Amino acid sequence: MKTLPIKLSGLEPLITNENSNFINVGERTNVTGSRRFLNLIKEDDFETALEVARDQVEGGAQILDVNMDEGMIDSIEAMTLFLNLIASEPDIARIPIMIDSSKWEVIEAGLKCIQGKGIVNSISLKDGEEEFIRKAKLVNRYGAAVIAMAFDENGQADTYEKRITICERSYKILTETVGFDPSDIILDPNIFPVATGLDEHRTYAIDYFNTCKWIRENLPGAHIIGGVSNVSFAFRGNNKVREAMHAAFLYHAISNGMDMGIVNPTQLEVYDEIPKDLLEHIEDVLFDRREDATDRLSAFARQFEGISEQEVKKEKEWRSLPINERLSHALIKGINEFVIEDTEEARKLYDRPLEVIEGPLMDGMNTVGQLFGAGKMFLPQVVKSARVMKQAVAYLIPFMEEEKKNNPEASSGKAKVLLATVKGDVHDIGKNIVGVVLACNNYEIIDLGVMVPLNTILEEAEKHQVDIIGLSGLITPSLDEMVYVAEEMQKRGLKTPLLIGGATTSRVHTAVKIDPEYKGTVIHVHDASQTVGVLNELLGSKHDGGYEASIKKEYEKVRIQHAQRKKAKQLISLDDARKNRTAINWDDYQPTNPVFLGNKVFEDYDLNELRGYIDWSPFFKTWMLTGKYPAILEDKVVGEQATELFKDANALLDEIVEQQLLKAKSVIGFYEANSIGYDDIKLKNKQNETILFNCLRQQATKRSGEPNSCISDYLAPKETDIKDYVGFFAVTAGIGIEKLIEKYEDQHDDYHVIMVKALADRLAEAFAERMHERVRKEFWPYAAQEDYSNDELIAESYQGIRPAPGYPACPDHTEKRKLFNLLEVEKNIGITLTESYAMYPASSVSGYYFSHPQSRYFGLGKINRDQVTDYAKRKKQSIEETERWLAQHLSYKH
Ligand code: SAH
Repeated sequence: MKTLPIKLSGLEPLITNENSNFINVGERTNVTGSRRFLNLIKEDDFETALEVARDQVEGGAQILDVNMDEGMIDSIEAMTLFLNLIASEPDIARIPIMIDSSKWEVIEAGLKCIQGKGIVNSISLKDGEEEFIRKAKLVNRYGAAVIAMAFDENGQADTYEKRITICERSYKILTETVGFDPSDIILDPNIFPVATGLDEHRTYAIDYFNTCKWIRENLPGAHIIGGVSNVSFAFRGNNKVREAMHAAFLYHAISNGMDMGIVNPTQLEVYDEIPKDLLEHIEDVLFDRREDATDRLSAFARQFEGISEQEVKKEKEWRSLPINERLSHALIKGINEFVIEDTEEARKLYDRPLEVIEGPLMDGMNTVGQLFGAGKMFLPQVVKSARVMKQAVAYLIPFMEEEKKNNPEASSGKAKVLLATVKGDVHDIGKNIVGVVLACNNYEIIDLGVMVPLNTILEEAEKHQVDIIGLSGLITPSLDEMVYVAEEMQKRGLKTPLLIGGATTSRVHTAVKIDPEYKGTVIHVHDASQTVGVLNELLGSKHDGGYEASIKKEYEKVRIQHAQRKKAKQLISLDDARKNRTAINWDDYQPTNPVFLGNKVFEDYDLNELRGYIDWSPFFKTWMLTGKYPAILEDKVVGEQATELFKDANALLDEIVEQQLLKAKSVIGFYEANSIGYDDIKLKNKQNETILFNCLRQQATKRSGEPNSCISDYLAPKETDIKDYVGFFAVTAGIGIEKLIEKYEDQHDDYHVIMVKALADRLAEAFAERMHERVRKEFWPYAAQEDYSNDELIAESYQGIRPAPGYPACPDHTEKRKLFNLLEVEKNIGITLTESYAMYPASSVSGYYFSHPQSRYFGLGKINRDQVTDYAKRKKQSIEETERWLAQHLSYKH
């Protein structure tokens, strides 16, 4: 089948070869599909992100799919910035862009940026015909082609009938009502995973093929697209099978009329080169040719995973294995049921207790480390393995101490790693995980805990003669603290390598701010598995200093790129930004009154009620299992682990709820308030004193129609004389957590230590969600009739926002002090602020409530000197101090 004519362009028109029958769309510039790309965007490393785009173009992508849909990214800003950067790279911009988002605002932002004629991915009948037509008209006006997904008011089409019905309906509306040229219509009839084990999924591939054929025969001119890697979802982790499956699927889809695909060209086997036996098994599944097709393919696929039948059998018989193998098995499987009796048996067998640790236990842990490194084991399993190790070691320690009395010089000989969360910061789940994983890799860990002052870190490092210092931090002020540690290490003439990790840290910050302060090695690490690799480089036997030199050089390059980029970024003046504030028509705006003014405290909130509001996806992310809840429970690769983890989490939650092991408390407050001077929020406290909350405004150059936002925009300005309101909240689910953690630490049970912290965090976020819902329905009932499911709440479907100081829209942590004073948070519910304005207990959330329908989350981005000067004056603090707290947002060097 020949390609249908398609008229698209970047800087150059898209020329398709007459004989080619397929256009491929590069998919790596998609934050939802590529972890690497996501991390680059999160780190603000747009230079390297551009390289990803360039690789795609050079690798033969004919269209570039760009997607920025991620919760913690300001998607509009990221889309705009990235597309503008692409526009200035002619070798990338020559091909057409596919703007990919589930949020219409993001698509529109993208449409405003692209040159030539691109594609919108996607619109659908999901929200009804009217919405579909509205969006389609806009796409048409912007002169782009459109993907219409087979999705309608009743959901996503998953049968042949539903697919053709929705595709036909979409096509008709687009051509007849909206006036689309049929060749600008691209239908996406949904590629779904097959071989999942569920009977309803067995005909997914055939239905897709048949739909392609039907479209080709009945909807003249329209193109057909699909995201191919979906089909092999059940075989995640087994690339050989996935690649073959993609090739086979494409082969048949194309011969039925599919003519565009979102694919990863590096994950594509040539159809003719698929081994015949594998191809047969795959096609049995695609065409649902045999009752047992899925089972046969799964069994056949195993040979490519390296898991043998033998191992499965061994699992059942392990208790009868020799003691060494039993210990290794228990470690690798994380079974702690027999740990004491097995350790004792081994101890009797060896001359010295240390030999048990260095022999069978360490052998087992090394295997765990290797499997984790190779992606064959997942974090929860590793932590359970480490628990077995720790419990065995704890059992042996008294015997070793006995022995030490006779031989005081004995040392473990392991490399030592000091870990600490820096002063002012309280979060340590990530650091705990790094500690556990490093311990599995034969490192000795000295964990100093949280809020550790610089002096303690350096004294302990000296005392223990550590080989590595690792610093962790969650909130932005910790970045400065890390710089101080590096400066002090330099002053003291240390040479110990310094590792930097934690949520707000980044490669760019490490290279630009920390590395220049310290002559020794400084390395930014993303997560536990990367840390192992870095330490092996630094301390391994092949180590010759070359690695350190290459990192120094790499960071030098990052600094140069960073300096260049700063110059390139254009900001507007604060005055102009204010003129372009969020356009809200206050003339006929009538704010809803809260049912009370002042504060209200909720003591001992029912944890059972909060459970239902948990957003579970971040929980799995904490445990380094990727995927969205609940689909993750069925995932072919991590599903089993995810399910087990979820079961363990719920068992612990049951205990916490029934025995009230954690206490949840909150305080909310509503105040009459207006914005004044554009960027401040003015209100009166209980004592009738005037309080100003100072807010920050975006200064980036915006496309027309997009505001330079500031959260004060969402309150009626003083001059309007409108009596408007703002709300505040602080919630915690961490009261009593110390006792619980101590209990598990005493049992050498890191698995439950991490679990408790992760669950308390989840309960705190759930509490914030639930309070916000009650606010909208009961206490400030501007949406009294609202009725959303938990999924809809997580997706922020409701009116109003609850921005948190320290987060992207209002990144100044110090405003939290005013919020805490106003709500009397410490007295009312016991959360305190550290010197860096972190909240303790860690499982706490606080923020503002805005109710205006136009209020949105956004990211501040960079600001200029004029705003810093103005803000410092309004805040009555020095410019230096202001610059210190806003360091991450300054567009200029200070
Ligand atoms: N459902 C997620 C919510 C994560 S965001 C979870 O359970 O983890 C956490 C909080 O950050 C939000 O509730 C909101 O208070 C705040 N927030 C999110 N985006 C923000 C932004 N752009 N600016 C300010 N605060 C933001």
